[in-house]
Amino acid sequence: MNHQKVRLGSGLYFVATPIGAARDITLRALDVLASADLIAAEDTRSLRRLMEIHGVPLEGRRILAYHDHSGAGARQKILQALADGNSVAYASEAGMPLIADPGYDLGRQAAEAGHTVTCAPGPSAALMALTLAGLPTDAFYFAGFLPNTSNARKSRIEALRDVPGTLIFYESPKRVAACLSDLAAVLGDTRQAALCRELTKKFEEVKRGTLAELAADLSGQTVKGEIVLLVDRGHSETVNELDVEQALKEALETHSVRDAADLVSDMFKLPRRPIYQKALKLGKG
Ligand code: SAM
Repeated sequence: MNHQKVRLGSGLYFVATPIGAARDITLRALDVLASADLIAAEDTRSLRRLMEIHGVPLEGRRILAYHDHSGAGARQKILQALADGNSVAYASEAGMPLIADPGYDLGRQAAEAGHTVTCAPGPSAALMALTLAGLPTDAFYFAGFLPNTSNARKSRIEALRDVPGTLIFYESPKRVAACLSDLAAVLGDTRQAALCRELTKKFEEVKRGTLAELAADLSGQTVKGEIVLLVDRGHSETVNELDVEQALKEALETHSVRDAADLVSDMFKLPRRPIYQKALKLGKG
């Protein structure tokens, strides 16, 4: 048995569920599901099935359906259960609650009413995709789903053009080809990107390339499964030469020509060769 019954204090426990592989649930999430006084879920059927897979008994507890459109009634039931001193588990259908999923209003109102709000965290498609994409992870921007129509989508993409981090989108297989071609049209053909599909499942796949390459790859093809799209930040072509020279001079005070060139080309995201030539000249001077 993987779970154990634990004494949960009164409060709201968000519970992350797997994004594919059922065994990605955490032991703590199972403990919370086994022990909460009340269980609520975005999708009651899939949670019941997940609990069955892992042998977590309901023991007479009903699973309450709750999502953002359930309205104030269902939320009120949960808030009342919290006010009565109960522990309430709320599970998403897949992945982390609130991440392009319901739970925001519930968490906010529970916290405002002074209840403990915590989480048994777990997988999220956005973070797994970021780990696999081969794009910088130092800063990223989760943009959720893009609008369905091309005009609205292009304006949204335009607004994200200068975000200084990797862009992460959730996308449906039906729209992904159109979406990639709009991304290429607005952000330029050459931005690096990645398409991550069916993460943690049998047909998991990661395709990396420029936006134009990925768009061409998909055009006229039927794509299946769940998808995360990632796009590298823009790299400005108008880097100030004086800034580069100054950075090189400073780097050369403490580093070899080779290391200074590596450092500065990384810093400005510029090709290494011309920076190395410049460093050589400065190093001699
Ligand atoms: N809360 C979830 C999370 O933390 O990742 C996301 C829920 S959102 C309604 C569903 C979208 O997430 C899908 O349309 C897809 O874009 C992405 N997604 C979920 N599971 C995925 C998977 N196994 N592989 C790729 N993308 C996935």
